[in-house]
Amino acid sequence: MTGQFANGAIVSHYRLDELVGAGGMGEVYRATDMQTGRVVAVKIFGPAAVEARDLARFYHEAKIHRSLDHPNIVRVHELIDVHGRPGLVMEYVDGESLAARIARLGRLPPGEALEHLRDLAGALAYVHARDIVHRDVKPANVRLTSSGVLKLLDFGIAKSAYVHGLTKTGNVIGTPRYLSPEQLLGEPVTPASDVWALGVLLYEMVSGQVPFEGATVSELWKRIDSGRYAQPSQLVGASTSDEAATLAGIDAIAAACLEREPGKRLASAQAVVERANAVLGGGAARAMPTVAPTGRDPIGTPRSRTSLSGSIEAVSRSWRWLLIAAVAVWLIVWIGLWMMRDDRDVAPGERAVEHIESTADPADVFVNGRRVGQTPMDYTGRTGVMITIELRKDGYQPAHGDVQLTVHGSTTLSLEPIGKQP
Ligand code: ADP
Ligand code: MG
Repeated sequence: MTGQFANGAIVSHYRLDELVGAGGMGEVYRATDMQTGRVVAVKIFGPAAVEARDLARFYHEAKIHRSLDHPNIVRVHELIDVHGRPGLVMEYVDGESLAARIARLGRLPPGEALEHLRDLAGALAYVHARDIVHRDVKPANVRLTSSGVLKLLDFGIAKSAYVHGLTKTGNVIGTPRYLSPEQLLGEPVTPASDVWALGVLLYEMVSGQVPFEGATVSELWKRIDSGRYAQPSQLVGASTSDEAATLAGIDAIAAACLEREPGKRLASAQAVVERANAVLGGGAARAMPTVAPTGRDPIGTPRSRTSLSGSIEAVSRSWRWLLIAAVAVWLIVWIGLWMMRDDRDVAPGERAVEHIESTADPADVFVNGRRVGQTPMDYTGRTGVMITIELRKDGYQPAHGDVQLTVHGSTTLSLEPIGKQP
């Protein structure tokens, strides 16, 4: 790999030794601190992302990342100036990315996968406790040191409660395979979205494939919407009864993370840690699902109807009317909430506005093959409709994204300069 900087280039008091990674936000070099001899990683903001907003995002990443101190999160040392561009100096993590390890081995032994899940979920629980959602949990953003310690990287699109309006939905940047249904729909992202990604990651570590696969966002969405996927234990044969118990535990954790409704998933990353520990400790058979299937309509269940009529009979005539009025009000509120909920679930036909931008604005925007304007722009359509967005700009490879319109959506497409590896 060659980067913008030659091997041996000096930036600040660091010598860049080798390019080790490149992504949407810039290039990452292994480097040496010439004052202390310490080996570090330097992530340098790339020329492809020259927009002020991206620069703000880079500083945002640095600010969030710098505040974190956890054994399973790459530590940030300092922010430096690299010929007018910011550079993030971090702890260097030798070893390989989790993505590289899965690719190399095909799939990981169930016990190892559970340990990685536990460590990663622990890092996320720490992050969530600080009101930060990572939003980009995937094997390429996790590294394993040569001694097997897991480190979470890349807070590039992390969202914190204390910085507003800076990071956009960014739902089409990078691979969508780890994005939760709410991220794909442009709905609010919460810690539960990271829990979804943990489920995808566990599934992939154990089976070597992701639960929901699609060449486009719309295909991916169809798979998720169907809710059907093979259990990891169906894809991986167990040779001993212990292994079968572990795999059954993994099936249950993955299923509890891969609930379409955020509210039905395992309640927190910490809950994932506990479930992983229970299975690792041989408690697979005892580990009961903490997320019980919940009915949508509490008033429709026979039990609540019985107790409701029972109480009506117990009260006097005047109280009965009051109670009926209260139930009516409650029903109206409930129906109202239900309709709002349908709206979020994309009831087709409402006015939808999709904010479209790119990592290299301005770019020409084509929706379903027709030019509609330049980024950044708001495209108006109808909710529930799938559109194909294409961005074109001279000197850049065209970028595509399939988006289902929601009331307020936002799409950021990454534009790569021609000649650069995607
Ligand atoms: P991007 O925002 O461009 O995706 P990342 O922070 O994910 O950037 O880094 C890109 C790649 O560089 C990673 O997949 C990883 O392999 C490598 N990398 C990033 N940070 C480090 C680090 N601290 N130590 C070693 N390699 C790193
Ligand atoms: Mg990354």
